[in-house]
Amino acid sequence: MGKMQDYIEEAEQVLLHTYNRYQIVLDKGEGVHLYDIEGKEYLDFVSGIGVFALGYHNEEFNSALKEQIDKLTHTSNYFYNIPVIEAAKKLKEISGMDRVFFTNSGAEAIEGAIKAARKYAYLKDGKTDHEIIAMEHSFHGRTMGALAVTGKKAYREAFEPLIGNIRFANLNDIESVKAQITDKTCAILLETVQGEGGIYPAEKKFLEEVYAICQKKDILLILDEIQCGMGRCGSYFAWQRYSVKPDIMTTAKAVGGGMPVGAFLMTEKVGANSLKAGDHGTTYGGNPLACAAIKKTLDLFEENHIIEHVASVGEYLKEQLDLIATEYDCIVERRGVGLMQGLVFDKPVGSIIAKAMEKGLILINAGTDVIRFLPPLIIDKSDVDTMTAILREAIEQA
Ligand SMILES: *Cc1c(COP(=O)(O)O)cnc(C)c1O
Repeated sequence: MGKMQDYIEEAEQVLLHTYNRYQIVLDKGEGVHLYDIEGKEYLDFVSGIGVFALGYHNEEFNSALKEQIDKLTHTSNYFYNIPVIEAAKKLKEISGMDRVFFTNSGAEAIEGAIKAARKYAYLKDGKTDHEIIAMEHSFHGRTMGALAVTGKKAYREAFEPLIGNIRFANLNDIESVKAQITDKTCAILLETVQGEGGIYPAEKKFLEEVYAICQKKDILLILDEIQCGMGRCGSYFAWQRYSVKPDIMTTAKAVGGGMPVGAFLMTEKVGANSLKAGDHGTTYGGNPLACAAIKKTLDLFEENHIIEHVASVGEYLKEQLDLIATEYDCIVERRGVGLMQGLVFDKPVGSIIAKAMEKGLILINAGTDVIRFLPPLIIDKSDVDTMTAILREAIEQA
């Protein structure tokens, strides 16, 4: 094998083995396509796990970043800067939330959300034994707090003890949530659409009942929109399709258009009654380069009518996947919303994904039996057609 294999062998000498990587060394991207270092083109239906919403090599986005690099990339949070103000104003506008704290990743946004919820409860009763209810099959990140609320035992076990007082319920089973509520419950945390866990959308009735319970008992509703938010489900945030509003929400992945950023946002009620000066901080979070990326991403969403586009192309993707699901006995069902879709198989999907990769289509799994579709939000119908043609061949030949 050529150059690519050499690089892969080199990588395996130096990187910690925490991933089973695809045997591809990527070089560059253009629109919805990626290219490896040997020049092979791939149609990308993963977008770096839901990150590259606007596709690759977006000139306007890149120029905005280059401009900011030449001015200032970091200030620390002891100073104000203009990009952080602009990015926060934009995020407030599209989310209807009131206060923003910028982080460098999704897991950090979850950590902040947990701290805000605990502090809110602490200020109410002075106690330090509050509980959080999270969902089985959820994914919230790999740091100790985020891991503690992640509903997958295999991810948690070796690292215990994690933060305590976490209880688990089942998504879309309101009785299981009620059964975990005690007078110590300070927050209920869930992904509006579960991503890693297998693409499970929260049902309307379930989420609205959880919201009603939270309102009644002054329990904070925390919605993790890190994967399902930022337009992917056909609205800026997936919860906006329900009659609910979170007290705290998290975003990351697509919000930075490819830059490593995240944020947790809250209502004024929580903002005024939780984290105060000295309670939380970050060296890099909200730096001018990251915030220039967020601001430009949000401007481009607006200018290019990304939300409207996802609503229509998402519907088309759904129809085409439904069609494929009827054609093959090995497909159990399609699940998902907008451009966050999953095809559930009755067997492991690894060989289908590998076959697709050979044929120039990048896909990813969610668990062993689900193929996950998280394309850049700018894909059009012809990209969906190209994808489904390759997928059919891959299913047949795998
Ligand atoms: C990816 C993800 C996270 C963690 O984000 P990182 O940036 O990897 O720390 C948390 N929650 C959800 C729903 C995610 O998809």
